[in-house]
Amino acid sequence: MGSKRKNDSGGEREEGWHESGKKNKRESKEVEDKKEELGVIIKSKTKDKNFSNVNPLKVAEWIKVAVGRVKAVKRVNGGGLLIECMSKTQRKKMLWLEELGQIPIESYMRQEKKICKGVMYGVMMDITVEELEEELEKDQVVEVRRIGKRDEKGEVQSTMVVLTFELENMPEQVIIGFQRFRVNEYRPSPIRCYKCQLFGHMAGSCRGKRRCAKCGRDHEFRDCDVKGQGKCCNCGGEHSTTFKGCVEQIKAKEIQRIKFEEKTLYASAVKSYKEQMEKKIQREKVQMNLRQEKAIKSMTKSD
Ligand SMILES: [Zn+2]
Ligand SMILES: [Zn+2]
Ligand SMILES: [Zn+2]
Repeated sequence: MGSKRKNDSGGEREEGWHESGKKNKRESKEVEDKKEELGVIIKSKTKDKNFSNVNPLKVAEWIKVAVGRVKAVKRVNGGGLLIECMSKTQRKKMLWLEELGQIPIESYMRQEKKICKGVMYGVMMDITVEELEEELEKDQVVEVRRIGKRDEKGEVQSTMVVLTFELENMPEQVIIGFQRFRVNEYRPSPIRCYKCQLFGHMAGSCRGKRRCAKCGRDHEFRDCDVKGQGKCCNCGGEHSTTFKGCVEQIKAKEIQRIKFEEKTLYASAVKSYKEQMEKKIQREKVQMNLRQEKAIKSMTKSD
């Protein structure tokens, strides 16, 4: 009873309690699992490596190491894989996986069901993710994640909790016990790599060169001796890469917005963004031509 064990996310949970006190509930959950959508699609985030050009035996082994034995693995269009999980727990592990055999991946549920993500603040630290999941099942919450903050000591958990609803429209609030929590739309700021400072990937899967966030040269930010403004290695402007007004940061934010609004993958959001920009440029060109034509016409009339 009550033996504590560190779980994957670094948090702690009560193991024994689930085993003994909740056995019946767990059994009925397994029955539910059979009706659940347990297919997870994974796709490589890097252009040069997808799962169709990697040895399938290796891929099978990576999956086994990462989440245990799965029901089946199939190839899907575009070099991705469909993984049929055995349980909701395994599906969850699969969905939070960021790499497979050192290939950075994005994963999402196969089902077409709409999902939306919301965030709530001030959730006491002693409420576990498992407790929240159980409490919020009534609100169609399928996933709960407590967000970590970075500080000098490394990553620490915060009172901010992100909820994934299997709903098209998110409720404005949820009740935990007797306490009401406001739910706001979750739009995380774009991820910026701590190593190379580019947007869209994390340092763990970085293949770029190390660049200082302040001056762009090859050293850690804390070792930087540049006084004053510095130079942004993303846009060349006179500011640090963390500057909110940086054109590259604004672009990354826009891509992030598209990713959320279109409920799509990062790579597709980048594509949409480029298409939107091209259309905008086209529109501006057409308008400029019209203006020029008008100007020429009015000149010829006055002749
Ligand atoms: Zn990087
Ligand atoms: Zn520097
Ligand atoms: Zn910049």
